[in-house]
Amino acid sequence: MIDLIDVSLKYDNQTTAIDDINFKVDDGEFVFIVGSSGAGKSSIIKLLLRERVANSGTVLVNGYNLNRIKKRKIPEFRRKLGVVFQDFRLIPTLNVFDNVAFSLRVTDASNRYIRSRVPYILNLMGLSNKAKRFPHEISGGEQQRVALARALVNDPPLIIADEPTGNIDPELSYEIVELLQGINECGTTIVMVTHEHELVRDFGGRIVNIEHGRVVFDGIVPAGGHYESK
Ligand code: ADP
Repeated sequence: MIDLIDVSLKYDNQTTAIDDINFKVDDGEFVFIVGSSGAGKSSIIKLLLRERVANSGTVLVNGYNLNRIKKRKIPEFRRKLGVVFQDFRLIPTLNVFDNVAFSLRVTDASNRYIRSRVPYILNLMGLSNKAKRFPHEISGGEQQRVALARALVNDPPLIIADEPTGNIDPELSYEIVELLQGINECGTTIVMVTHEHELVRDFGGRIVNIEHGRVVFDGIVPAGGHYESK
């Protein structure tokens, strides 16, 4: 599903943000990518979304070789990904229903399908009673659940969550990770990038720890367990 092979990324050909990284994410996995500020997390996200191209090495995502993908194929590639951002990125002028429906409308889904699919996904995310609210009328945790619903509504095989708990209260952060885990249990592969080591330790599972652009730990850790640098 994701394979990074000997990947390096430099900015301005000077700062080495990603330094010869290798890791693989198989179909159906839930992986935390964790690292401190400046470790290279955003750079990995940019590589996975094909916002940047690796200076060396190979980036494979969802069956696309992102080193070689043609420009005109990039929108098609991105439509098959669900992406959740730290700052939610909801459309402020659309209500909750229409924010989620928007993802379907851009794929030319029928109104009939939208009318059945959107309420189903809102219900899964516990948002049935918020459908008519606008983003500014709901809490941060609820806004992030709308963003999750939007990422999920097209049933993508892979969801990439970039610091999804970065702008919400700590107790609600756990709820967001639990929702992501629930989505994962239904078969969707999830990659969650975060700087919150404590949150990651509390949940455990497959953890890839990045520091200074390198993988310093990659393994499966029990909930509450520790992971250490190589
Ligand atoms: P993180 O998301 O983990 O905080 P980043 O991927 O943003 O880390 O940054 C990794 C390294 O690359 C850091 O040293 C950062 O200063 C550098 N960096 C990030 N973006 C740029 C850029 N646009 N130009 C130059 N250096 C950058």
